Amino acid sequence: MEQLLLQLDTRTLAFISGLAGLLLAATMLGIAMTGTRHRALYDWAAAGLCYGFGFLIGVWISVPWPPWVSAAFANALVGSGHVLVLAGVQRHLGRRVWAPLLLVLVVALLLSTLLLEPFRAELRLRVLVHSALYCAVDLTAGVLLWRAAAPGLTAYRRAVALLAILNGLAIAWRFGHALLAERIENTLVDNPFNIALFLVSMAQMFMLTMALAVMLFRGKAVQLQWIGQHDPMTGMLNRRSLLEHAQREVARSLRYGTPLSLLMLDIDRFKTINDHAGHEAGDEVIRRVAARIGEGLRASDTAFRLGGEEFLMLLPATSVGAALQVAERLRAAISALPPACGRPVTASIGVTEVMPRVESWEDAMRRVDGALYRAKHEGRDRSVAIAHPAAQALAASAARLAEVG
Ligand code: GH3
Ligand code: MG
Ligand code: MG
Repeated sequence: MEQLLLQLDTRTLAFISGLAGLLLAATMLGIAMTGTRHRALYDWAAAGLCYGFGFLIGVWISVPWPPWVSAAFANALVGSGHVLVLAGVQRHLGRRVWAPLLLVLVVALLLSTLLLEPFRAELRLRVLVHSALYCAVDLTAGVLLWRAAAPGLTAYRRAVALLAILNGLAIAWRFGHALLAERIENTLVDNPFNIALFLVSMAQMFMLTMALAVMLFRGKAVQLQWIGQHDPMTGMLNRRSLLEHAQREVARSLRYGTPLSLLMLDIDRFKTINDHAGHEAGDEVIRRVAARIGEGLRASDTAFRLGGEEFLMLLPATSVGAALQVAERLRAAISALPPACGRPVTASIGVTEVMPRVESWEDAMRRVDGALYRAKHEGRDRSVAIAHPAAQALAASAARLAEVG
């Protein structure tokens, strides 16, 4: 193994790591050009540039200044690379970004190396301080991403998190070595330890580039999927996603023999609100009603904005009687909203139970629409339930049996 490692040399590996850093920057800028304008992309692009030039300066031989000056700047740039990767992770997760504070620390280390002779002379101390900082920064980025679960994204985030954590551990290895080894050498000296360290960081840089790109594209896909399924004004599911949810719930109801109920809700005299208070005020009423619906349902229920001021709710494992109670609760919650243009906000609700064994989904939708129509016709601000004739017959015979019994 040692022989194998010694066939490589740290300068070439540092050079390739530098190219890998520039590749990270180019990849992130390329993704930004496809229209994914997230600020984290620019953090990671800047991180790539810092890594790139940091590694390249480290191996740049024909410069007119002494090697320790190059080394100090190389360390500061690589340190900034670590800090900017963390900054991107924090921005990607919508968290507070620590980059300014950490970059001040990196600059303080640079100035200490340039200006304080004892610090410059103490290679072991410098390696310990730098690697402690990088290790803490990488592990923080890794843990933040690992813990940030999100539907459709968790696995992708964890892949990047794992790379950041591995990076942190590789640097911890360097810290341990600096702490315990009898003699430590400059990172560019060709020894198996340094070569292995460069190999690991180079491989991680390539993998990080790929993992970040995949995570970002996956994030974009999840975002587009969300946009396709939701109504932007209320954040509720939209009409397009209704059929898919309905099919799933109908299948579940058939499989487990549990009832499935439907509510259709329409805000009363909504045109008057629009006409007298304006479209904006109308939108605000829609948002408030949507919020009340969201608060009034169980986690297993699903609400959809069908369009305009009309909503549909799917209530699994709920009989028509229980659904009517839910409807009444929602109706009461909506009529407790602040009045709009001097009149209380009210809604009418149609209720029914789907009978998937004897009817189609469309039949049930027509019936719930009929129930809503009846609620409007009977004076609005009320809930009306219409059961399927088969369910009515069943209920009637059950009632007769109870009477006879
Ligand atoms: P009813 O009690 O019979 O339901 O009377 P209504 O006035 O609510 O009648 P209808 O349901 O036909 O009116 C819907 C109105 O909602 C018509 C349309 O201009 C308005 N509308 C549709 N979408 C939006 C929207 O996104 N925002 C606003 N502010 N108004 C909308
Ligand atoms: Mg209406
Ligand atoms: Mg309507």
